[in-house]
Formats: sequence, structure tokens, C-alpha cells
Amino acid sequence: MDELRRRAAAAAVPQREEGLVVCENLVRIYQTEGVEVQALQGLDLAVAQGEMIAVIGASGSGKSTLLGILSGQDVPTAGAAEVAGHDLLAMKRRDRLNYRRGTVGFVWQQTSRNLLPYLTAAENVMLPMTYTGIKRSQRRARAEELLDLLSVGHCRDRTPDTLSGGEQQRVAVAVANANEPRVLFADEPTGELDTATSDEVFAALRRANEDLGVTVVVVTHDALVSEQVQRTVRIRNGRTSTEVLRRVATGEDGVEVHSAEEFAVLDGSGRLQLPGEFTERLHMRKRVRLALESDHIGVWPDEAARRAKSEAEEAGAGGDKRAQ
Ligand code: ADP
Ligand code: MG
Repeated sequence: MDELRRRAAAAAVPQREEGLVVCENLVRIYQTEGVEVQALQGLDLAVAQGEMIAVIGASGSGKSTLLGILSGQDVPTAGAAEVAGHDLLAMKRRDRLNYRRGTVGFVWQQTSRNLLPYLTAAENVMLPMTYTGIKRSQRRARAEELLDLLSVGHCRDRTPDTLSGGEQQRVAVAVANANEPRVLFADEPTGELDTATSDEVFAALRRANEDLGVTVVVVTHDALVSEQVQRTVRIRNGRTSTEVLRRVATGEDGVEVHSAEEFAVLDGSGRLQLPGEFTERLHMRKRVRLALESDHIGVWPDEAARRAKSEAEEAGAGGDKRAQ
């Protein structure tokens, strides 16, 4: 274990201001049978080295598309994306292959997609290392260290079909870390598991983050999971819309105070997405009134539009009564 920690510490260079993962105005358009789907519509995201963040959002909001691009499996239509100094738009085929094998690790939701069924857990972890030229005895030692670290050492000589879903996903985290990646991406890794088992898998991701120093980006729809990280980024319609930052402060009385604050994401052009629950409550549509104050910006509903809408609703309600 000391060897793993030592290497992780050596890999930890000072945090760069711009982040280890940086997306700017990222666009991904899918064309299928003449129909255009804008899966990402100018997404901005920065993740610092050593950070662990959760990405949440409704189904179809673009989470998997984002992870596909960042893990080098898919190429964006426009914008900028950089991971550990690799430009994901300019990368050549050969570099892309090396990038996928060495710079990033990936854990999928489907347990069966992460592991080869006819190999033991240890052999699954050793497999990605065959590309790196490390000796077989060293591969075995590293695989066993990783499995022990993630509390699945007892699974090392068993094939995936004899493991529980949670054990398979923890072995998958070990596989994803085999080549000491800079960033680990996990797309709903606990999606098929119950709460207790999800917690174990999430603990394994956190272990990888804390003990191996790998930066982690985990997509989840599990609110309990997203509450366990310091930063949660929400994607709406292919753009990052809000972020929740969690802090723990210790007061003078020694009591820990947990706080969570929600922030809207402001992009390079000054664009901002207002949460739907806010705009609906105040009937904000199409146009809002803005005013600059000394320390904040005020946003009000467009009164004329609001009046027209409530008059229309009253007329509609009257119409219903007459119909009864
Ligand atoms: P999420 O992971 O948040 O559920 P996805 O990134 O999978 O969302 O999908 C975002 C949007 O892009 C959806 O409207 C989806 O139907 C569409 N989409 C995803 N992959 C493809 C594809 N290969 N071809 C066409 N449309 C796609
Ligand atoms: Mg998805």
C-alpha cells in the first residue's frame, strides 16, 4: 500500500488554476436519419486536480455524452475540451488510443460491461497493464494491492459470475485504476445496485480519489451519493446550470457545521440558466427585468407578460365554470 501512496504523492503536481479537466462551450450534435439532436449545447466545466465531483441531471440531459467525450470515446462537434494537457479535439488516432489506455479510467453502469467473464478479478485488473510493459510479477502485485485497497482482496481468484454486483463494481474500479490514470470517469456506477451496495462502491471511488490521488468525475442520479462529494454539478439541456458546494466548518465549540450552497454557473459570455422551479414560481417567461444594485443583480418578472398570462388564466377558469 505504501508503494501506491508514494506513487500517488509523486504524481500529485500543484493544482493548476485552469483545472485538470476543462470544457469550454462544448457542443455535441448527433445526426440520425436527418434529425439533429443537440446533446451538448455549449457546456462549461472545470475540475481541479485531485477533486471528486458528482454530475447529476435528468435522463437525456447529456451526462453520458459528456463522459464519452472526456474519456476519448467520442469527439465533440465544437468547443474546447482538455484533460491533463490533452486537447480532445485535436488528438490523433494513435494518441487517442494511448489516452484511453493510460490517462483515463472508466467504470460503466452495467457490471457486465466492465469485466471479462472468463478472467478472475486479479486477471481483469492485470489486463490493462499488458499495454504498459510492466513485468508479469509486478502486474500481479499491483492488481492484488488495488483489490485489497478497495476491499475486494477476497475476490482476486474468482470470476465475475461468482461475485455480487457491488463486488463486481469495486473490481471494476480497480481495473479502471490499473494504469494509474489521471482521471477516473464513472457513468452511473451504482445505477443497478441497492443503497447499501451503492455505498460500498461509492466508498471504493472515494478511496481511489483519496489514497491514489486520482481525480474522479461520477455521474449519478442518487441524491445520497451526490451529497457525499464537495461539489455537485447539475446539467440541464446539455449545459451546466447549477453547482452545489458543500463545506464542513468546525466552530469554536468544536462542533462540525455542514453547509451546502447552490450556485448558478455563469459562462464566458455572461449567460446564466435560472432554475425552472424559480422561474415557474414567479411566472418568468421569455423576458425578465434586470437591475444592477451595489452588490447584486435583481431579476424580476416582466409584469406586462405576467398580467396578460393571469388574465388569460382567469378567462380560461371562467370558461370552465360555464361549461359545467
Ligand atoms: P444522459 O446520459 O444524461 O441520459 P445522453 O448523453 O445519453 O443523456 O443523451 C443526451 C441526448 O442525446 C439525448 O437526447 C439522447 O437521445 C441523444 N443521444 C445520445 N446518444 C446518441 C446517439 N448516439 N445518436 C443520437 N442521439 C443520441
Ligand atoms: Mg446516461
